[in-house]
Amino acid sequence: MRCLIGEKKLRWLRERTGLDIVKAMVRGNTGHAILCCLSDGSWIHLPSIAEIKRNGWTPEAVDGERMFEAGDPPPEGYLEWCVWAEVQQRNGLQQERCGRCSLYRFPQELSGEVIESTLEVSGGFEVKVTSPVCLDCEAVEVRDG
Ligand SMILES: [Zn+2]
Repeated sequence: MRCLIGEKKLRWLRERTGLDIVKAMVRGNTGHAILCCLSDGSWIHLPSIAEIKRNGWTPEAVDGERMFEAGDPPPEGYLEWCVWAEVQQRNGLQQERCGRCSLYRFPQELSGEVIESTLEVSGGFEVKVTSPVCLDCEAVEVRDG
């Protein structure tokens, strides 16, 4: 899909940050860029045309918001989540698998709780393994308990 970023917006961004957009994510089928990755690897949020109109902004007055540092909690919204995960990964944060839901989670999504389980391996041996528990699973447990 062709990505639409107005010439004015691009110029504004370049003058403001000295950076270019190297990657963009578009929302829905409008083709309008919402999240843009700059040449220094940071992501910014570009307001939609509707937002700009609603607030009476001109493109020059719109401030792109820097998004997500390493260690930030996960955001709502799929596109935002993808960007957030990329930032975490780029900063060297490693995902670990939650022992309850089996999803891979970044350290800030883990509760600090650890569960221990026993695996049987061939030859009748048993191996104790520990796995972290994510915040979602911990919350479910608290609600149920
Ligand atoms: Zn979990």
